[in-house]
Amino acid sequence: MNVLTPWIIPIFIPNKGCPHRCIFCDQKNITGVETKTPDAGIVHKTVNNALMHYNPMTKRPVEVAFYGGSFTLLDKKYQTELLTPCLSLINSGRITGIRISTRPDGIDQTILDFLKSYGVYIIELGAQSMDNLVLKLAGRGHSVEDIRKASFLIHKAGIRLGIQIMPGLPGEDMQGFRNTILETVLLAPKTVRIYPAVVIKNTGMAILFQNGKYTPLNIDDAIDMCEEAVLTFEKHGIRVIRVGLQTSSSLESPGMVKAGPFHPAFGQLVQSKIFSGKISLNLKNLKPFNSANIIIHPDNQSLLTGFKNTGIKRIKAMFPESEITLKLNPDLKKGTHKNEI
Ligand code: SF4
Repeated sequence: MNVLTPWIIPIFIPNKGCPHRCIFCDQKNITGVETKTPDAGIVHKTVNNALMHYNPMTKRPVEVAFYGGSFTLLDKKYQTELLTPCLSLINSGRITGIRISTRPDGIDQTILDFLKSYGVYIIELGAQSMDNLVLKLAGRGHSVEDIRKASFLIHKAGIRLGIQIMPGLPGEDMQGFRNTILETVLLAPKTVRIYPAVVIKNTGMAILFQNGKYTPLNIDDAIDMCEEAVLTFEKHGIRVIRVGLQTSSSLESPGMVKAGPFHPAFGQLVQSKIFSGKISLNLKNLKPFNSANIIIHPDNQSLLTGFKNTGIKRIKAMFPESEITLKLNPDLKKGTHKNEI
């Protein structure tokens, strides 16, 4: 198994004619109005251009990732058109494989056989929640059983499974989200993405919000929930490859995000909370002390001093009687820390 982080070449596909109406999704933004529809030529050109910047010395696997829609809901002829150039790039050894994302009810054995024959080796399922009521209120149009069945078939086909979840949807509380975390662990995915629900303009959720029928998570609660999720997934050997929505000029345009825990560096806020939590726990075990040095790698400094010193302030607040000093040491392994009293 290749454990190096893949070098990903993203190709955005418009979600042409998605028959669903999920309440968090802005249909206008995903129906291809602003996205240029890629064809085989564009796929070839995009990959060739990207490969010019690839450093083979890194030995990282090269993946083409089709993002932006439910791949298997696209017209089969169009799927074939997109996958064919990728397959020839796999056969010539220039890329390692393909990843796609889709809905749980967009998977069956025939579809998996087709995808596998073209070199698709990772499928990310948009599960969103493992609670049937939450799925229903979100207008997803599929059940928890569909997620389990699709996951089972993907494993059986020898394709790697990725799961995407969305804390904070209508009808979900912390206990419900905890259940989604545990049920997701049972699906045994290789990777997870966590996108806290955000109220986007022109969505069903925006209407609920305007009518006072939906309260999105505040940013602190969303960070706490994601922290718990990340720690649980990591404990079970599941890689969390994204926390928080990817910012874009469209998302950051005025009035696009109506409410909810949207922050351009949301993932880093969660990482900061996790990192400062580990340091605090370790300091607690060293108590009592009058002063302590926290030593970290310079590359991790922003996790404690970024966002108005949130991380270091959080630690200091836990030990108000002690003097805490942050020190940097490039010899320390990134992501680790040492406490000295
Ligand atoms: S989230 Fe996906 S399935 Fe739901 S409406 Fe948007 S594109 Fe369709």
